[in-house]
Amino acid sequence: MKLLDQKTALITGASRGIGRGIAMTFAQHGCHVAFTYSRSIEAAQALEKDLQALGVEAKGYQSDAADFDAAQELVDQVLKDFQTIDVLINNAGITKDNLLMRMGESDFDSVININLKSVFNMTKAVQRCFLKQRKGSLIHMSSVVGVKGNAGQANYAASKAGIIGFSKSVALELGSRNIRSNVIAPGFIETEMTEKLAEDVVQGWREGIPLKRGGQPEDVANACVFLASDLSTYITGQVLHVDGGMLT
Ligand code: NAP
Repeated sequence: MKLLDQKTALITGASRGIGRGIAMTFAQHGCHVAFTYSRSIEAAQALEKDLQALGVEAKGYQSDAADFDAAQELVDQVLKDFQTIDVLINNAGITKDNLLMRMGESDFDSVININLKSVFNMTKAVQRCFLKQRKGSLIHMSSVVGVKGNAGQANYAASKAGIIGFSKSVALELGSRNIRSNVIAPGFIETEMTEKLAEDVVQGWREGIPLKRGGQPEDVANACVFLASDLSTYITGQVLHVDGGMLT
């Protein structure tokens, strides 16, 4: 069953990892996909082709989610190209891990700008379109680390916790206009972001997870399908944990 037939989604940071998984899964559900990336031009071009091969409209845009004006220009261009946006997925994110003792100011600022300010930028940019349509689904990618904290990730945890507060506030502000705002908090999802970790660390993580495996991008993508689709029209302001039971 195609749950997103003829909808249009804008996904940030989809050239790799979870974002790529979301884009492909959405296309399999009949969704047209506009997506962004930062530097991976070839990967973005390949994704564009893979999405179009699934019979949907698809286009990649090189755009820095941390840049306020660029976010507005991006949304204007996507609306020109696709006529509408039904779903925004704020997925772009980075890590710059270090113990607080060694964390420089730029490590803090860049993580906050790319992970959190981007969510403000993009949500502001689609707001007018969603208000006009009197509908829209906002999905923001937080993390188990934003809920629980993690040694060596104070900057990342702050950015991901901030997303939760932001989303709940937007859900309260825009609920009366039929605009929903929800967060997904993935646990340990095996992507390039986690490939940076040592194998023994990764194995330790897997053993500590009740479902005894790391998640795959598709696990997160399927949760996004639910929150983007009409199956979740009475759900807003929530944090959906996609973590194999890590926080249980
Ligand atoms: P990833 O493999 O490192 O991919 C990150 C994506 O974000 C890439 O497409 C990258 O584009 C894009 N990006 C980076 N900076 C950007 C910017 N300034 N503007 C626009 N796009 C930008 O990461 P991932 O593991 O898929 O993670 C995706 C999201 O899930 C992140 O928000 C992350 O914090 C969150 N998350 C991940 C995990 C996990 O275990 N992997 C767990 C919890 C939450 P380029 O390819 O061009 O650099």
